[in-house]
Amino acid sequence: MEQDKMRDQKSSRRIVFATGNQGKMREIREIMSDFDMEIVSMKEAGVETDVVEDGKSFIENSFLKAEVIAAKCKECGYTEDIVLADDSGLVVDALNGEPGIYSARYLGEDTPYSVKNAEILRRMEGVPKDKRSARFVCAIACVMPDGSKLSAEETYEGAIGYEEKGKNGFGYDPIFYLPDRGLYSAELDPDEKNRISHRGKALMKMRELLADKLASTPIL
Ligand code: IMP
Repeated sequence: MEQDKMRDQKSSRRIVFATGNQGKMREIREIMSDFDMEIVSMKEAGVETDVVEDGKSFIENSFLKAEVIAAKCKECGYTEDIVLADDSGLVVDALNGEPGIYSARYLGEDTPYSVKNAEILRRMEGVPKDKRSARFVCAIACVMPDGSKLSAEETYEGAIGYEEKGKNGFGYDPIFYLPDRGLYSAELDPDEKNRISHRGKALMKMRELLADKLASTPIL
């Protein structure tokens, strides 16, 4: 009886999102809520692991994570899991794309963002307004139960401002200026940011890709 229950649980389909970040879990649960599937973090899925993100692009890094987690889920007997992973960062044109895929590690993983942001503002001193363009990029990788893959990449366009402003958001939001709105990203309320941000848009795109995939291959 107990064994049957376990088998049922393992063969029911889940979406596993390879993150430990509760904010990201809230966002994905909201965006993917109309899929009739349980959505769990890798910790909730019981498959925690440290993945070395040594890819050369956001997409490569997101697949490195998704593939390791997908293999772990299979090892644990969860053969029907759909595994998603994301990778994101800030790309500053005047700094040759830095910090880019190294955004989290820029100046050291544990360095406070007040220090990282101050350093970017310092490096941007003297850069004219029309050369301060920057964007957040988010790549989302998906590994399906049969090993097939889907990917989505979206951007959130703006510029590096001249100061730190705003108390919302995280990371580089206080120096990321949105010229169209005349506001810094850290001044947006969270729902508004999710609607226009790289991650919000990439998750929406992935939701569409996944819906199409599931509709065209219902036995997956
Ligand atoms: P990860 O993809 O969650 O590992 O994020 C990589 C890094 O990019 C974060 O640690 C932040 O430094 C930066 N980042 C990604 N998205 C955002 C954002 O929406 N606002 C501010 N910083 C971000």
